Amino acid sequence: MTKQQIRKQVLIKREQLTSKEVSLFSYKIFNSLTPLLLQYKNFFIYNSFKNEVETKQIIKFLIQNKKNVYLPKIKNGKIFAVKFSNDMKKNNYGIDEPNGEKIEISNFVSIIPAIVLDKQGNRIGFGKGYYDRFLKENECLKVALCYDFQLFDKIPSEEHDVKMDYIITPTRLINCHLSLNKAFNCP
Ligand code: ADP
Ligand code: MG
Repeated sequence: MTKQQIRKQVLIKREQLTSKEVSLFSYKIFNSLTPLLLQYKNFFIYNSFKNEVETKQIIKFLIQNKKNVYLPKIKNGKIFAVKFSNDMKKNNYGIDEPNGEKIEISNFVSIIPAIVLDKQGNRIGFGKGYYDRFLKENECLKVALCYDFQLFDKIPSEEHDVKMDYIITPTRLINCHLSLNKAFNCP
């Protein structure tokens, strides 16, 4: 199957989730994410929309724990980081973005949305390559969130695709580097 076909199939499944399921699964993911949230200081985190794994609770927790929180903003076909603020405006996709200027962050964790992932850390997004470009230019710890049905054993990937370090689902925490070792059949 091509990236396009897998993306379409998984999106249909995600659209069928009820809001109860979205809340329950997102809560489970938030729970397993908490130790990591407490361990680091700077976070670049997506603002969830539609049936994506919800991040509102995570963002609230980060703010309460005095972490530095940055959200993505899209301009001229690129995403960049903007400091979190309650003053938000919808972008062309209908996603809330904080009003604010581009800011350079270093030493940070990126919490990344995905449509499909595999255990080696390959990721399929909406097909615009926004995160591939951002992550290529911004070295960080890459943590992707998804539901279990979005996690595959192996998906196609291209040269420009940036790999995730960790994947968190409602039932699993995957270290993509360890998963790579397994794929090489280490004794
Ligand atoms: P997604 O990661 O959102 O699923 P793709 O990986 O299919 O999307 O990438 C979509 C488009 O973005 C591709 O045409 C690809 O060439 C382009 N792209 C991705 N990363 C880069 C990059 N670093 N520089 C230039 N173009 C890129
Ligand atoms: Mg890509």
